[in-house]
Amino acid sequence: MVHISTVRHEMAYLNKIGKRFVAANDRFEVHHALIAALQDLYSFSACSILLKGEPFELSIIPRYPPSAPFLQSIITRITRAANVIGFPEVTAEEMAVTAYLDAPDEFAHGEAQAITRGDEVKDFLNVPLTIEDRIIGMLSLFDEREGTFDTDLLQLTTMIADYAAIALENVRLRERENTLWKAAEMERRRLELIISSMAEGLLITNTQGAITFSNPSARQILAQAQVEFKPDVPLKVLAEQQDANWLSELARLVQHALGGKTMIRQELIAGVKGEAVPLTLSVSAAPLDDPGQKPEAPIGVVTVLNDITSSKQIEKLKDDFVSVASHELRTPLTAIKGYTQHLMRRVERRLRENKKSGETPEVEPPESYDLRNLSIIQSQTEHLERLVNDLLDHSRVQWGQLELSFSTFKLADVLAERIPLAQATADLHTISLDMQVQDSKITADRKRVSQVVGNILDNAIKFSPQGGEVTVRLTEQDDCYVISIIDQGIGISPEYFDHIFERFYRVRNTASSQYSGIGLGLYVAKAIIEGHGGRIWLARNKDMGSTFFFTLPRVPVTKEPNQA
Ligand code: ADP
Repeated sequence: MVHISTVRHEMAYLNKIGKRFVAANDRFEVHHALIAALQDLYSFSACSILLKGEPFELSIIPRYPPSAPFLQSIITRITRAANVIGFPEVTAEEMAVTAYLDAPDEFAHGEAQAITRGDEVKDFLNVPLTIEDRIIGMLSLFDEREGTFDTDLLQLTTMIADYAAIALENVRLRERENTLWKAAEMERRRLELIISSMAEGLLITNTQGAITFSNPSARQILAQAQVEFKPDVPLKVLAEQQDANWLSELARLVQHALGGKTMIRQELIAGVKGEAVPLTLSVSAAPLDDPGQKPEAPIGVVTVLNDITSSKQIEKLKDDFVSVASHELRTPLTAIKGYTQHLMRRVERRLRENKKSGETPEVEPPESYDLRNLSIIQSQTEHLERLVNDLLDHSRVQWGQLELSFSTFKLADVLAERIPLAQATADLHTISLDMQVQDSKITADRKRVSQVVGNILDNAIKFSPQGGEVTVRLTEQDDCYVISIIDQGIGISPEYFDHIFERFYRVRNTASSQYSGIGLGLYVAKAIIEGHGGRIWLARNKDMGSTFFFTLPRVPVTKEPNQA
């Protein structure tokens, strides 16, 4: 045992052990440095280090193999002392389960001296482990003999404990840092794998709009669009250099995202001119914020490119088929309609002749039976014709070929014509006209306007199977007429308001066979109204049903009137 009498000696001693603590790389090396330092002061059987934390840690470092009862006695002492340093309530059992026996290597090699000579702790010393007045744990020394721990050396022991506390805290921080680094590295690798294997293209651009990162799919898409990718060149410049319109569109989206706006599923045509279905991308862009900045300022933009060309190809195939099929259906349909009308006229003539001849048959004459059947054929043919026309109009809208033929007429006349036609198909409904304008002169496509009114009226009847009032109202607002068609039917939830104007869209509860239809009427109606420079929308009625509105400018604003 070294007896240190002078301050200089003490300093030299502390310097020596301090270096050992500093050199310690892990907690075991700290334990060894601690044992070595304490051994110079006392002859003891074991020491322990209890560290606060969630979970707490307890290491018992014996100098020679302890007997089981002695170990138990150590744990009992630690448990009791733990309460003094403000340790949360922990039982001796929990301490025993947590305890880690950091036995020197010699134990394992059988080089250790005999096991402890007694079974009980007879003397002990507890020193708090502190860092800047914060107790982080407790150092305890144990011996099975009485009077081992000299209180004269308490100050020096406390200094050693402080060294140990700092060394342990450093080790702990390093371990935590390592764990965090490993977790971050794992996450980075996982993300890298996901990003490089995802089918969507991913681009990251900086605040100048230049690409700083791209995944393999993005590079493939750029190559397909015949764009030579150059790092550090802003997309705008790249667009000009390579005469790629879609890249300027992309640059615009990225610029919006830099302004803090997230852009979702914007369609960009990136294909080369002349292709039947060009390379089409669905693009989403979101700002990449710097979490360190308050308020967060974007340091770039993350853009996801989705190649939707194949779904566009399928869509085109479908559209082509619909267009061809509806064209082909029209010819036989016209013939059926013509021959039915011809037959009806003949039968009607025969009935008239029978009447003239004064014969009053007792049973219903076969002609009147035929006439009834023929009128069923006629009305079904008209229904089929409407469907085919909707399909043809749909194709025209798709290809931008819905042509309008303008003439000047009175809107009131169109409404007055349409209402009786609709009324003839609706026994349970009362359709009325509410004219709130004096003059209803307009320049528009008469047939198309009539078609829209007819379509909305047909829906108003179809979707109010219980019957009720249907009102057609004509008002005016600025340079427009406003037509509203109010029904008392099943109504539409607001979440479907925009969707019902999409092609083939039918509200799920009305898509059943109870209501026939293919979901094209409103799609075509919207195209017609917008072709006139008007607007179409709907609202839910207070009590029941819906109101469809559309506006028509008195004089068309989008196209030069093509006077018929
Ligand atoms: P279709 O009537 O052939 O289904 P439309 O394009 O005319 O196609 O209408 C689209 C959908 O909008 C309809 O299927 C229906 O779900 C809903 N809808 C249209 N008009 C009304 C209405 N007056 N009341 C309730 N639902 C309606």
